[in-house]
Amino acid sequence: MNRMKIALIGAGPRGLLVLERLSAWQQGSQGPLNVTLYDPFPIGGRVWRRDQDPHLIMNTAAQHITLFYDRTVEDPGPVNSGPDLAQWAKREAEAYIARTGGPNAPAFAQAAKGLGPNDYPPRGLYGYYLAWFYDQLKQHLPATMTLTFRQESVAQVAPGAPYTVTAATSTEKYDGVVMALGTLENSLTREQAKLQQFAQAHHRFYLPPGFPAEGELSSINHQDVVILRGLGLSFFDFVSRLTEGRGGFFTKTASSELVYHASGREPHLLAGSRRGLPYHAKARNEKAPGELWPARFLTTPQLAAWQQSGGVTGRQFWQALQREVGFVYYSLLLAERHPGIDLTGFQSDYLQQPEKAVAALQLPASERLNWDALTAVPEGDLQTVIQDYLAADAKAAERGSKTGPLTAALEVLRDLRDPIRQVVSRGLLTDDEYLDFFLRWFNGTNDFLSIGPPALRIKQLLALSRAGIISFLPRQMTIRTQGAYFIVGSKADTDFQAAGTALIEARVPAANAKAAKDPLLTQLLHDDVATLMDLELAGDRRFQSGAVLVDRDTAQLLNSQHRPQGKLFFWGVPTEGVNWLTTASPRPYVNDINLRLANRIARQLLK
Ligand SMILES: Cc1cc2nc3c(=O)[nH]c(=O)nc-3n(C[C@H](O)[C@H](O)[C@H](O)COP(=O)(O)OP(=O)(O)OC[C@H]3O[C@@H](n4cnc5c(N)ncnc54)[C@H](O)[C@@H]3O)c2cc1C
Repeated sequence: MNRMKIALIGAGPRGLLVLERLSAWQQGSQGPLNVTLYDPFPIGGRVWRRDQDPHLIMNTAAQHITLFYDRTVEDPGPVNSGPDLAQWAKREAEAYIARTGGPNAPAFAQAAKGLGPNDYPPRGLYGYYLAWFYDQLKQHLPATMTLTFRQESVAQVAPGAPYTVTAATSTEKYDGVVMALGTLENSLTREQAKLQQFAQAHHRFYLPPGFPAEGELSSINHQDVVILRGLGLSFFDFVSRLTEGRGGFFTKTASSELVYHASGREPHLLAGSRRGLPYHAKARNEKAPGELWPARFLTTPQLAAWQQSGGVTGRQFWQALQREVGFVYYSLLLAERHPGIDLTGFQSDYLQQPEKAVAALQLPASERLNWDALTAVPEGDLQTVIQDYLAADAKAAERGSKTGPLTAALEVLRDLRDPIRQVVSRGLLTDDEYLDFFLRWFNGTNDFLSIGPPALRIKQLLALSRAGIISFLPRQMTIRTQGAYFIVGSKADTDFQAAGTALIEARVPAANAKAAKDPLLTQLLHDDVATLMDLELAGDRRFQSGAVLVDRDTAQLLNSQHRPQGKLFFWGVPTEGVNWLTTASPRPYVNDINLRLANRIARQLLK
């Protein structure tokens, strides 16, 4: 019987999910199967490396992370159930970490011991969970399957089955190849290259966008003034590395506020972004793994109706989403503060005519959901208003994802990711709207409101601001250089100016295949094995995005003729734009998109 050979490129969560599916489907099969997994980083991949600083935490609650299938997954095939990250930390982590070791093993073992289901685990701990998962797979492989891990980067995949995979030290032929390359570094933009040259010429520190666990920060000392550009998740990582990572620590007051105790080795931090506000905190989780706010406006029939009538405008889509958020917000607000109002009556009015139902409540302005206030810096002395904003944000988040009206309502944006995804996958927006509204406006707003850090990070930031370690910059920050300094200014406050000795681009590289430094992706595009998604705009204009074009249903890689090339599959972060929100790890009991797709890929491979 012919031996089937499959290459999986990328040993992050997605690569391992396909591996698990191959193993699951292979049980009971007679035909021999050889699988080779490639990654220059150890099993688990680059984001989740086990040698990283244990202070760097995930922005996902431990019980919402899994690598195992469950019965909610559409057409799952063989289900081999197993622990989510929280359960694994309780049952398996200590022994596994002790057995496998690592430079920060004691800290990760300690973190696992105290990890509750709703806590936010260190990223390295997820790395151990991934490595454990791989070891389990390896130990229980079907008799007809072999598995090899090559810790090396793949430079080339030649089209035409059998596909030739060329890595740093090997060349092999395969019947099928799956690429899940994840977040990739990009070449520097012109501005970044200039800033890097400036830093080199003046012995200053400049760090372009990258993996926040990796940038070498040891040359920054306590006399430096470090400008951080970006207030999203990477920002919190850099803040942690330059404070807790330098020996400072937090203590809790009687009222549960945090106080920062400096080590004296921290530089001063100047933090800003275009919006000027740190991402909103995630609500303290109160939901069980499969629990989600249901759709009431972005329902399947509504999506189908839009599809039938030729699509939806960005405005209509956003209004439907705002109404979803409003439903949860006002329902919780009324239950909490206005028990005299008939909640069921309000809800049924709201479902008919949302704006009218809200107006009829005659709530004071302070109780109404104010979208502008949610996304803009308040007026007043900047440090004070941001400190007040952080305090209010942390307090709202701690009230919980089913209790606090505001943060519970913002979780609708997470819980309705599947219907939002369908707006993209069904092509309901015109290409103009998709570019101008969805990619350029909605994505940033959605990230700001719904993918933020745990409340702990916001409380820490407040404590650091009160301790004078960090100062916030006015919105629309700008950077230029003068003499031997980085000069930060603001388009919104033209009188503002401050000098820095170091500049960190506090954000991960954007998914942009055109600029990616990955040799494999460069080769695939060069040889027309892969191509980029084009948008056709009004007036015969075209816009070439940075997204790798794939068939959304099958995950097959498409060439410039939009043709699949057999068993060449490509999925995950570099397809962002064709697919939506490709950076989320699999979640249990929600018919998770990653679990669905891994299964579909494995079945096609084995056909
Ligand atoms: C800093 C950071 C923090 C994050 N935090 C969270 C979080 O808290 N929660 C969450 O849900 N998601 C988080 N994410 C999103 C993360 O991308 C996904 O959770 C998940 O890791 C994606 O899995 P993946 O397998 O597609 O890609 P990755 O995990 O990125 O793995 C891809 C692997 O492919 C390898 N690779 C790339 N090119 C080649 C090549 N040519 N040859 C061989 N191997 C190659 C890389 O080395 C890498 O190890 C975070 C991402 C980053 C960058």
